[in-house]
Amino acid sequence: MSSEHRIDVVVIGGGIAGLTAAALIGHRGRRVRLFEKAGELGGRAATQVKDGFSFNVGPHALYRDAAGIRVLAELGITPRGATPRPSGGHAVARGVKHAFPAGFLSLLSTGLLTLPAKLEAARLLARLQSIDPAPWQSRTVAEMLAGLAKHDDVRHLLGALIRVSTYGNAPDRMSGGAALEQVQRALAGNVLYLDDGWQQLVSALRDAAIAAGVAIESGVRVDAIEQDAAGAVQAVRLADGTRLPCAAAILAVAPDEAANATTGHTHELLERWARELTPLRAACLDLALDGLPVPHSTFGLGVDAPLYFSVHSAVARLTPGHGALVHVAKYLDPSETPDTARDLAELERFTDLLQPGWREHVVHRRFLPHMTVTHGLVTARGGGLAGRPGPAVDGAAGLYVAGDWVGHDGMLADASFASARGAAELCLRDVAPLSAAA
Ligand SMILES: Cc1cc2nc3c(=O)[nH]c(=O)nc-3n(C[C@H](O)[C@H](O)[C@H](O)COP(=O)(O)OP(=O)(O)OC[C@H]3O[C@@H](n4cnc5c(N)ncnc54)[C@H](O)[C@@H]3O)c2cc1C
Repeated sequence: MSSEHRIDVVVIGGGIAGLTAAALIGHRGRRVRLFEKAGELGGRAATQVKDGFSFNVGPHALYRDAAGIRVLAELGITPRGATPRPSGGHAVARGVKHAFPAGFLSLLSTGLLTLPAKLEAARLLARLQSIDPAPWQSRTVAEMLAGLAKHDDVRHLLGALIRVSTYGNAPDRMSGGAALEQVQRALAGNVLYLDDGWQQLVSALRDAAIAAGVAIESGVRVDAIEQDAAGAVQAVRLADGTRLPCAAAILAVAPDEAANATTGHTHELLERWARELTPLRAACLDLALDGLPVPHSTFGLGVDAPLYFSVHSAVARLTPGHGALVHVAKYLDPSETPDTARDLAELERFTDLLQPGWREHVVHRRFLPHMTVTHGLVTARGGGLAGRPGPAVDGAAGLYVAGDWVGHDGMLADASFASARGAAELCLRDVAPLSAAA
């Protein structure tokens, strides 16, 4: 291969992690090629548009005080969207709607809590931001809740805040400290719902990567990473058999997909990572409605059930100018076998409670029974975020991983952004660009 066609870095995966890593490396003058096996870029951040309604893959909110926003800023990208306001929200317990206790006044007036529980909740919420997460990193969410609150109802309320911030419904396994940090981040900075959906980020990242000289090909699957006897990356092999020599590769894919693309010791290590990780999943009911039967009822959170309801179009531009885009979700317990029919019935009943009569208004609906929200539950056993693997892969020079299961920074998409940045930095530091050497 002539130096003109040599590649410094191959990025495998065209989701947020892969696009971010490719753009960051391309900006620093390396030759990068990115391959995405699907026909379209975006992975789980893609948005499907139907009759002008923008459907994210289930409810998506971008944390404002987190790694994603910072990495996007480095690439000159400012997300467009707005922040949901706490008013109009409901907390649902025992099948009854109550005012969501988002602030001091609503906490006093809500029927959700008894008076002694209100006092405890008020004290806890007032000091929540100053609680040190460190002692809770290796203890579970359940242990932390028992340590922080006496009243069951207060524990349930804090448990619901943890679910909505982390997507985690695994109180006996999730790290209390990591969960607390995420709630603190949510309360401090809130979130953005994005205009036109998360496709906005995918398009902006794609444009940044292309402007940085990255060659992007979708509909092309990478089958294997070739390494020498010492483990150093030599080339990647595409599904059609093409061999592309390169100095480094970033696997921005699911952990089992990363393991499948490798052999030998690297395969054994990545397979162990994949085996030890627990994915967090959600059942999602995404709805386009021609109107809301109860316009002011825009948010609901289950306190004694792992359910979420939010009218995202009340905050961001997601409809053709009329109607509503609604996301309803159930945070699935990773230790339970999902029951699709039961989960759908629960999502519909929750929607009945918050928007009675909604079924008459459906323009489009999509049920996603078992979506992987993140490949890596952050566990107490792993000591919190410090227990997550990568981005470097021991014994495999020039091979890195990125995704929402990788690295010590952030949860959900923020982990994808942060690990992509980490993998990009390692590539740039450790690997001499072939094009410079040629
Ligand atoms: C229902 C739901 C709700 C969510 N809500 C939020 C939220 O509110 N806030 C938040 O921050 N995050 C949220 N997330 C998580 C967020 O969407 C993901 O963390 C993020 O999009 C993951 O990006 P990624 O690039 O790491 O992985 P992916 O998006 O999974 O991308 C990996 C890509 O690699 C490609 N690929 C795999 N193997 C190969 C191969 N061999 N060759 C070529 N390509 C390959 C795949 O096709 C895919 O496109 C949510 C996710 C879901 C599903």
